[in-house]
Amino acid sequence: MTEESAALPQRTEVVVIGGGIVGCATAYFLAEAGVPVVLFEKGRIAGEQSSRNWGWVRKQGRDPLELPAIIESLRLWQSLEARLGADLGWYQGGVTYLARNDREVGKFEAWLEEARAYQLDTRLLSAIETDALLGQSDRRWKAALYTPSDGRAEPAKAAPALAAAAERLGAKVFTGCAVRTVETEAGRVAGVVTERGMTACRAVVCAAGVWTSRFSRNLGIDLPQLGVKASVLRTKPAPLVTQSAVDAVSVAFRRRQDGGYSIAHGGSHVFELVPDAFRYLRAFLPAHRRAGRDQRLRFSTAFFRELLRPGRWDGTKPTAFEADRVLDPKPERATLDLALAEAKRLFPQLAGIEVAETWAGVIETTPDQIPVMGAVEAPQGYFLASGFSGHGFGIGPAAGLLMAELVSKGRTRVDLTPFRLSRFTDGSPIRIYDCP
Ligand SMILES: Cc1cc2nc3c(=O)[nH]c(=O)nc-3n(C[C@H](O)[C@H](O)[C@H](O)COP(=O)(O)OP(=O)(O)OC[C@H]3O[C@@H](n4cnc5c(N)ncnc54)[C@H](O)[C@@H]3O)c2cc1C
Repeated sequence: MTEESAALPQRTEVVVIGGGIVGCATAYFLAEAGVPVVLFEKGRIAGEQSSRNWGWVRKQGRDPLELPAIIESLRLWQSLEARLGADLGWYQGGVTYLARNDREVGKFEAWLEEARAYQLDTRLLSAIETDALLGQSDRRWKAALYTPSDGRAEPAKAAPALAAAAERLGAKVFTGCAVRTVETEAGRVAGVVTERGMTACRAVVCAAGVWTSRFSRNLGIDLPQLGVKASVLRTKPAPLVTQSAVDAVSVAFRRRQDGGYSIAHGGSHVFELVPDAFRYLRAFLPAHRRAGRDQRLRFSTAFFRELLRPGRWDGTKPTAFEADRVLDPKPERATLDLALAEAKRLFPQLAGIEVAETWAGVIETTPDQIPVMGAVEAPQGYFLASGFSGHGFGIGPAAGLLMAELVSKGRTRVDLTPFRLSRFTDGSPIRIYDCP
């Protein structure tokens, strides 16, 4: 039970901003370690990306820099239901990427080579093995990249279960309560100003998803981050193709716990031209080039709405975080129609599928498409956990564990250096890993 009407605590050790999977996991692991923690969510738990994603939990195809953290996360996922005493829809059915030609197979081989050091169970399936996995026989696919130990979970269940478990361990969780800004004293975090008053604290973990850059800019922190919209549909129960989540380039799907499928177009998304798109144009040029035709630019009234929002504020007046309680963008009908048609064309078992629901979510991305996790230089005591770039659901439990370790002990079991914010300003080469 989240506390919507209870009085705010006057003081705590750590405030977590954001009730997505990353914020909820951070609060859970802090509470488990006995650290007093309060989580504030402006809307509802998992209202934004964390309930809208595909539900894939994968090591496969990741930037090698992320592999140590996602390996840790898979370890957590395997026992998370028992640990939380909750059904998360966790199923270790594998993840499969399909290849149509030698070029795509070459990318799989290159990734396998990079990932070799981590001794994963990923392997390249032959055309015959791929058909066997998919219950097909037409040799449509040249090969597949397959990781049997990857899995899936139900996004709508995971973050709420983490929040509930955190509360049972003593964390306080407030929904419908936006944090407006952070108060500092002598260069250190002193507390947060919420729409319902102040809570003093020693540290703040900002896990505010697509809002993190805007929120942090008010504190003088520059986090290059942009949002892209992605659309998803779910079907009514349908015949089983495979328990593995499948990326077939033009369509991606995974079996749901309710017997249907979550289906989306592999890479297609909409990029809204807002003022930040120009602010971070140079940093994101490689990402724009790489997205190519998968990315559709759109100019709308959102540009002016964002332009009119103040760049700095003091917490005394309502903010953008209260104006947009839950980002709920309209799904792209044409993209979903295409994905559905491709699913039916490529997988005859799905010829009769019927759509039950469609939705969209805004994904936060960074210039190198890996997250930012760590402390900022100033103010002291302010930590970022954001920029998961479309794959933060799977890594979410580990992100929470690592943030909790960092805040409470100052050291983490996985090296967070690759995820430092300063990589964007310290002269480090910013490159996007060419994931298969
Ligand atoms: C369509 C789609 C498909 C995806 N598929 C996958 C997938 O298959 N596998 C995978 O690993 N990842 C996937 N992702 C990415 C994944 O969903 C995200 O990386 C992950 O959910 C991020 O979690 P988060 O907690 O950081 O952010 P969010 O879930 O976005 O949560 C941030 C929360 O912060 C709150 N907040 C913001 N500002 C404030 C404030 N000032 N005060 C209080 N609260 C605030 C917001 O309301 C929000 O609830 C997908 C995403 C989308 C949209």
